[in-house]
Formats: sequence, structure tokens, C-alpha cells
Amino acid sequence: MLKDEIIEKYLMAGRIAKQTLNFIYNEISSKLYIDVLEIAEKAENYIIRNGGKPAFPCNVGFNAIAAHYTPITKEVIEFREGLLKIDVGVHIDGYIADTAITIARGREYHEISRINKTILDDVISMISPGKKLGELGSFIEARVSKLGYKVIRNLSGHLIDRYNLHAGKNFPNVREFFSQTIKEGEIYAIEPFITFSYGSGEVYGGRIVTIYSLSKIKKLKDKRLDKFKKEILNRFGPLPFTPRWLNNKEDVVDSINQLYKRGVLRGYPVLIESKGAPVSQFEHTVIVTEEGALVTTA
Ligand code: MN
Ligand code: MN
Repeated sequence: MLKDEIIEKYLMAGRIAKQTLNFIYNEISSKLYIDVLEIAEKAENYIIRNGGKPAFPCNVGFNAIAAHYTPITKEVIEFREGLLKIDVGVHIDGYIADTAITIARGREYHEISRINKTILDDVISMISPGKKLGELGSFIEARVSKLGYKVIRNLSGHLIDRYNLHAGKNFPNVREFFSQTIKEGEIYAIEPFITFSYGSGEVYGGRIVTIYSLSKIKKLKDKRLDKFKKEILNRFGPLPFTPRWLNNKEDVVDSINQLYKRGVLRGYPVLIESKGAPVSQFEHTVIVTEEGALVTTA
């Protein structure tokens, strides 16, 4: 199905992504005060140093911040207990690896993240061509609730394609009756998000937006904005980026806001657990083969 050279690129992206998480894990361990901006930049620089490109800005989500957040300015957290999620994306010529870990401190936090990781590994071992996606979502949901936790129902994994992080199909974390079938040669990012029983099991979009992507390529009839849009297209294509990568000066912020208002840029509001409960996440990218899932980020 997939050509060997394409598989090689997916595997290389996966290897770099995995090493990036190991590197960041070591950076964080034993530190009590963590500058999350420094962490995100170290992750992105590590990716570039090792021959990859960031497929999206490094996401750092502390406790109830589940996804879609990258720091823009210096931001120090005191990490005595709780759940700190690091989510990185790497691409080689557009072939993407998307992977995340949760670093836990405190007994109940270790427990939820341990369970989260096990469930991810278990669902990956169930993947094969012909399986229904909803069946696997059902497995995740049932296991999580049996153990006394809640799945974040409105977050899911996703099909990946070249230069396309969300290529249509969702890999649900809950039961779905009418779902599509897994096919050989497909690439999926699988990412169960789970929270405590006192959480709502849902996220909402907050007011902060630190991640954007190009969504429409229309002529703007504005020299400055057209030039800016071209720069985004050349540097990131359709993949997500952050103003931080464009030296966060006043005119950049203004251009981004203008393009956002005109629908040329899509924004990704920070996703927060609705009751403020801490959220855990683990994610791997897999290639579906005849024999099952080949994990690129293991
Ligand atoms: Mn991810
Ligand atoms: Mn993902």
C-alpha cells in the first residue's frame, strides 16, 4: 500500500518525536518550577536539530488545560502535583508523527496517567484492517469508566495524511454506532484523554488562541496582508503555527488578527475541561498494516 520510502519518513518523524519527548521528560524531572515557554522552545529546537520540522507548536497543557495551548511568553508553573501534558508533532516532507505524554506528580495523578497509558497501548494492540473505529472507541470508554474515571467525550484521535494533521476520519474515545472502518495503509494518531470522576468529561473552547493555521488562500487586496499570508504559506503550508514563530511583534499580532477575522486563518482556542478537572493524555501515531498497528512513535 504505502511505498517504503514514505514509511521510512513516517518512521523517522516518529523516532524524532519520541526522542523529543524523552529529552523534555528529562528536562522536567526533578524541577519544581517549570518555565513552560522554555520547554516548548526546547522541544521545537530539539526537533529541528535532529533533522525534523515541527508539525505544530509544542503543546503544553497543565491540569485542566487539555489541548491546543502553546505558551507565547515566559510562564512559570509550580509543579508540586498534577498532570502536565507535552504534545509534539514532527514532520519529514509532510509525513507527520503526533505524540504526547503526561508527566504526573502526586499519588492519584500517577494512577490516572498509568491507566491512561495502559489503555492507549491496549487499544493499539486491537487495531487491524476492517475493524470499526467506533468499536475501539467503545473499548476505551468502557475501560475508563470501569476503572472509575471519565473519558473526555469531545476529543478524539484522527486520521493523518501528508501535510494534513486531521485528514477526515476521527478515532473516537467513546462508543459510536455509525462509524467508519480502519483500512490498511492508513495513519492514525490515537489519543485517549481521561479525567477524574468529578470532571464533566468534556472540554470547551476558551478565549485564548495561541495556535493558528492557514485555511483559505484568497487574494486580500492588501499588500501587507498578502505578503504576510504568503510567508505563512511558504513556511508552514497548511500546518498549525504560533505567532511566537514569527517574532511576536506588534505588526505580526495585528496581521494575524486581521487574517483571523477575515477567515483566512483558523484559530484553535485553548481547550479546557468544563469543570476544571485535571486531564491526562497519551498519544501515539500508528501505521495500519496487514498484521496490525505499527507504532511510529514507540
Ligand atoms: Mn498531539
Ligand atoms: Mn493528535
